[in-house]
Amino acid sequence: MESKKILLSEKDIPTAWYNVLAEMPVKPRPMLNPATHEPLTAEDLMPLFTEEASRQEFNTTDTWIEIPDEVRDMYRIWRPTPLVRARGLEKALDTKAHIYFKNESVSPVGSHKLNSAVPQAYYAKKQGVTNITTETGAGQWGAALSLAAKHFGLELAVYMVKISFNQKPYRRSIMQTYGAEVIASPSMSTKAGRKIITEHPNYQGSLGTAISEAVELAMSTPNCKYVLGSVLNHVALHQTVIGLEAEKQMEMAGEYPDIVIGCFGGGSNFSGISFPFMRHNFSGERSTRFVAAEPSSCPKLTRGVLQYDFGDEAGYTPLIPMYTLGHDFSPANIHAGGLRYHGAGAVVSQLRSDGMIDAVDIPQLETFAAATLFARAEGIIPAPESSHAIAAAIREAKRANEEGTAPVILFNLSGHGLIDMAAYDQYIAGDLANYEVTDEDVARTTDSLAKLI
Ligand SMILES: *Cc1c(COP(=O)(O)O)cnc(C)c1O
Repeated sequence: MESKKILLSEKDIPTAWYNVLAEMPVKPRPMLNPATHEPLTAEDLMPLFTEEASRQEFNTTDTWIEIPDEVRDMYRIWRPTPLVRARGLEKALDTKAHIYFKNESVSPVGSHKLNSAVPQAYYAKKQGVTNITTETGAGQWGAALSLAAKHFGLELAVYMVKISFNQKPYRRSIMQTYGAEVIASPSMSTKAGRKIITEHPNYQGSLGTAISEAVELAMSTPNCKYVLGSVLNHVALHQTVIGLEAEKQMEMAGEYPDIVIGCFGGGSNFSGISFPFMRHNFSGERSTRFVAAEPSSCPKLTRGVLQYDFGDEAGYTPLIPMYTLGHDFSPANIHAGGLRYHGAGAVVSQLRSDGMIDAVDIPQLETFAAATLFARAEGIIPAPESSHAIAAAIREAKRANEEGTAPVILFNLSGHGLIDMAAYDQYIAGDLANYEVTDEDVARTTDSLAKLI
């Protein structure tokens, strides 16, 4: 009988991350200082981020970056993660396609986010930092960083998007259980928060606002650093453990993916599953298709513009060259909170613009239909975010059925949905809707961007 799960042992945890910046054909444009429009250096980031994260952000020369032993040691709690052949899903779809998923939901916090939380907390500790701060949307990143911060003896303050704070109280309890302080954003504790609350008293928050608050706290607190869970190059770097393990596991299964799929918020899990495989496209050995699956309500890669934009709403961050809907874009309150971000990381944006990456946008109801099918076929209730990748994989399998082909499809299951049952409740009750973004919506928040590209 063929294996259902393809498993590695702890000694197979990668010893180095793959740095796509060293090998991608065209490097992304530099981040810019918003006041002077001068390119930034690693030193410019160091007041805000840890020194090592800042260095990694700008490292365009080292293809492999060593994973510290302390980080690999903590990775052992849940890594390597299983690669699973989704035979149940294949059967449900009556497809000849071979569908595999990398199961990142087995981490203690239920998502891939811990892969970057651990090294970032470690680098802060190593540098002698005592406090870290961050934002969280759906709560997965905050949960991951809470655990990592506690492990390395750091104090953590998390700004949590208000709608999630109220909709997902258990994510807040998880963070508090690990010992973090959790603040609903927008809050009265920062200038950025007070400004937004004053102008829009009922505003339910967004990742952009929460980032503004966390950055402000870090810049105004001694010995405090800001830590980010997506979008930036060093976060994508840390997530490559996903794809590096998956590459070995696919080899053990005797296959190589024709299509690699990840859901897309700021790009970290998509990058993590994709970049290690993409390096074989760069070298010309392979021609795998990479598909980023985003929500129709927040379609930066499919309908945004490639332009310099702020990473946050208030305009505290550097200007990043990104596919963006504009930092003022306010996505509908869909349940995949982790995908409600206005932009895409610089590396992914460059690769998209160079034709190395495809993107699809998927309506909310299709993602929950896919999630339900997957849960019944494979047993795992997926996170609403991950369900976008599942829906994209299902589209690929159906297309293959029509075309009479049998591609090998690999997608990343970025997390489980067991703390998202309120969303499933609404789906089951028929209370969920699709949200379409009009061209006017996109124009409204992108036309005002400075045209620097
Ligand atoms: C945060 C999150 C995402 C989206 O973030 P990316 O940086 O795009 O990966 C997707 N899935 C899960 C489960 C998440 O927690």
